[in-house]
Parts: sequence; C-alpha cells; structure tokens
Amino acid sequence: MTHLNTSVVQADRDRDLWQVHAGPGVDLPRLLDGLPRGSLPEALRDGAERHPDLPALTVACETLTFGELAGATAKVAGWLRGRIDSPGRRLLIAAPTSTRQVLAYLGALQAQMTVVPVDAGIGREELETILMDAEPTVTFTEGPAAEILASIDHRPELALSIDEALLAPPLAAAPPVAPMMLAYTSGSTGRPKGVLLSHGNVLSSIRAAMAAWRWSPDDVLVHCLPLSHQHGLSGVHAAILAGSHTVVLPAFDPDKLGAAIEAERATVLFGVPAIYARLDAWEGASETDFSSLRLAVSGSAPLSPELAASVEGRLGISLLERYGSTEAGLDLSAVYDGERPPGCVGLPLPGVEAKVVGTDGEDLSHGTEGELVVRGPQVFGGYWRRPEEDAAAFLGDGWFRTGDLAEFDGAEWRITGRLKELIITGGLNVHPVEVERVLERHDGLARVAVAGVPSERWGEEVVAFVIPAASTAPAESELLQYCRARLAAFKCPKRVIVVSELPVNSLGKVQRRKLGKLAVADGGAAQSTRESDGSAT
Ligand code: AMP
Repeated sequence: MTHLNTSVVQADRDRDLWQVHAGPGVDLPRLLDGLPRGSLPEALRDGAERHPDLPALTVACETLTFGELAGATAKVAGWLRGRIDSPGRRLLIAAPTSTRQVLAYLGALQAQMTVVPVDAGIGREELETILMDAEPTVTFTEGPAAEILASIDHRPELALSIDEALLAPPLAAAPPVAPMMLAYTSGSTGRPKGVLLSHGNVLSSIRAAMAAWRWSPDDVLVHCLPLSHQHGLSGVHAAILAGSHTVVLPAFDPDKLGAAIEAERATVLFGVPAIYARLDAWEGASETDFSSLRLAVSGSAPLSPELAASVEGRLGISLLERYGSTEAGLDLSAVYDGERPPGCVGLPLPGVEAKVVGTDGEDLSHGTEGELVVRGPQVFGGYWRRPEEDAAAFLGDGWFRTGDLAEFDGAEWRITGRLKELIITGGLNVHPVEVERVLERHDGLARVAVAGVPSERWGEEVVAFVIPAASTAPAESELLQYCRARLAAFKCPKRVIVVSELPVNSLGKVQRRKLGKLAVADGGAAQSTRESDGSAT
C-alpha cells in the first residue's frame, strides 16, 4: 500500500515537471500520447510530400532535400527488400559519416530491417564479436571497417552498395513491424551488449527533447558527432521529424565547425564536453559569429561547471546539459526557459519518470545520493539474447537501473558519478569526477582523468592520469599538494601518472576501465619515472 502511494505521488510529481519542460501552453496528454508514434521513414515520406525542396540533411558537405532523401531511401529499401526474406533481419553499418551511410540507415528502416550501427573505427575483435552476436544478414561498410570485414571469414554474404541500390525499384514507407535498432554498448564490463530499441523508444526520446527544446522547422542543427551513436543519430531524427535542416560534419575540426555555424546560420549545436573543451581552446572562436545559436546542448559525459562557464564566455550562449544513455534514450535535461545551475542536469523529459534508489532498490528521499533509475517510453525492452543481463538491469515495473549515481534535491537533478567507477578506497567512496574537477583547474594540466586501481593496502587507490599543458609536467608533489588543499585526504590521488593521451571512445569520453588497466600494467614504470626524476612525473 505504501508502495502504491509512493508511485502515485511520483507520477503526479513527474507530470508537473514535464509541464515545466513543455511550457504552459502545451497540451501535455496530447504530447505524451504522440511521443512513440510511427516510424522515421513514414515521417520522411510525409516531409517529402509537404516540402520536397527544403534541405533535410547536409552530411559531409553534400546536401539532400526532403524529396531527394525520401526518393533515395525508398530505392535502398527496395534493393534490400528484394534480398531479405522477412522483416527484422539485421543490417550492420560500419562506415565514416557520409550521405551513403545515412541512406543505408534509412533504407534499412524502410525495408523493416533492424539496424546495427557500429563505430567506423571498430577493431577486428569487436567486429567479430558483434557479427557473431547480432548475426546480420547484410553489411554496409566503408573505410577501415570494410578492410577488416573483408578479412573475417564468418561474415554475411550480402553487402549493400548504395550506387547499385539507387537503381532499384522504390519501396514505400510503412508502419514499423520490427525493432529499429540493435545498438551495442560496451558498458563498464567491456563485453559489448546489444541494446534492442523499438521505433517507439527512439522516437519518443527525441520527440520529448524537441518539445522541451522548442524545436521548430526553421531550426538548423549543426554537429560533428558520429552517426554510429544515439547522440549523433538523434540529430538526423530531429531533422526528419521536424522538417528542419541538420548539418553533420564528418569529424571535429573547429575551423570547419565554426564556418558551418556561420554559413548555415545554425540555431542549434549538439556536442559533448570534449568538443566544447576544444572549441573553448580554439583561437578562431573570438572571430566566429555564434550569434545565430539559440541552443547549444551538451551530453554523453559530465560537463564541468568551469568548462560550462568558460564556453558561455567564448560562445556567448549558456550550454544546456542533458543526460541519457543508449538503453534509456534522453532522460533528463535542463529546462529551456529556466535557470541552468552549474553541475545540474535539470528535470526528467516529458514521459520519463526518474527516481533514486538504494542498493536493494528501495526509494531514497530527496537529497540522498543513490542509483538513478528511469522508466518511460524511451526505455529499451531488454538486451539482445541476454536474459541474465535484463534481470540485473531492471528493478521491476519497467524501472531501468542506469548504473549512474545521482541526487535530486527537489528542484534539480545532479549526476554524481558512475556506480561501477566509484572508487572505494580504505572503505570510503570517492567519485573520480570530483577529483578530476579539482585537477582540471590546475594551470599546468591540459586534461585529467581519475580511476581506481587495485591496491593491497587500500582495496583500491585513487590514481590521476594527466596530460600536461606544456612540455614539462608539474611536479607530482605539487599536484598532490594542490589536491590536498582542496579535497579530503582520502580523495587525493595516491599516484599521478603523466600520459600523452587518454583512452577515449568516439565521443571523446574517457574510458576509465582502460585507465585502471594502464596503471596496473605501467605501475612499475610510472614509479621508476618518478624516482629517476624527482620533480616531474
Ligand atoms: P551511452 O550509452 O554511450 O550513451 O553512455 C551513457 C552514459 O553516459 C550514462 O550512463 C552516463 O554515465 C553518461 N552520461 C550521459 N550524459 C551525461 C551527463 N549529462 N552527465 C554525466 N554523465 C552522462
């Protein structure tokens, strides 16, 4: 009974918060009802009928109008449908950003296939694992992934060629009958897991964000995120759903990004903290006209308050932070018209319920840190062929355990760390991000990452990995002292290891699991560096 009451209060509170996002004039029940409707190919068909000559997508400098995009998508779908026996067969895509890549994606969806998007720079071992797990019927590869695929014996026979497919008879768009995507995420355990997403999951995620961010057909989105990840793909989805224009650059290059924002009079920018950090350090920023931007979104990794403040000074726009994951889509976002307090990620997006639970799944009160769990139409139904993972990932009643630590103070959500990356040293908890934020403020350091490393004495010890700002690194003793002046003693790193680069994924997100291994492997070497050179680590 108590549980039921809690749920009722929770639901009422979430509806109030959704209305805050949507704005006072919006019919919330209607908005919520429409979130998971239809498919992307149907929306593209409708857009092509209404405004065939408007630009839909500019990808790697090539622009396709809604009419052109819908026409080419239908032909790719026709080619695929002529070769697959039933809906739900999988097409694996591993290619650099291009219009061909987008056509493979949309064509497969229109052919009622399930897309398996993987990173263009995927390694052989990972590709082999995913091929065995996903069992795709067709592949679309270009660049290095195409070479790797060619050397793998157990690969699908059928390879999609867009040039050939564009000669095929078109296939009309129809309501979805198969899952939209099988998106692989390595999680923190390293073994790729397939996240099965329905059309409803993916569309409700972006539709809720578009409503909250006041997306209009006049918006022009620019981004340089990979189209193998939900973050980058969501920009393509937004263009098709809103009838707006999305410009995707194949890679981050500040000159090109700045030029694209100016030339297209971009109104929206999507980025991750690593991109904003490089834009912030870019000399050309002061000569670039960012005044067309009304919205600059940051997500996929923690945004430090210092970076947010610095970027606001450079770009003249306050970053809007949002939080999400492959499994649960977009969940939390700063309120478009609201305050953006540093370190906060706002409120649950329309349709998303969020709460904090303890280790046994019990609800925690406001202001208490615990695991963030979310529920709603955005949340996936389960992992691909991994019932044991599903059991661990869901609390019951559709609540997905995000694996992230969070806190809700009654007004704002904060993401405080990643459960599996929490360092437990001498029995005390240390959030890597908290230590990183301190070291990031040291002038002598360009980049910092902190991870827990197994230690006989402490269980785990806090280790900092730093890239110096100049050729000579600050002395380890100085960095440790710097930390001691700002952090509790148990949170201070036990070691500082100088590295020339940090292991990051295609979104520039530091992979702390790899860092931990690096420290174990290089522990002796790092120690001896320190001993031979008493000052610089
Ligand atoms: P992915 O599945 O690759 O999209 O990664 C999802 C994970 O990225 C989440 O579980 C978080 O750990 C992290 N993440 C995403 N957005 C944020 C954010 N705004 N702040 C902190 N961490 C984030």
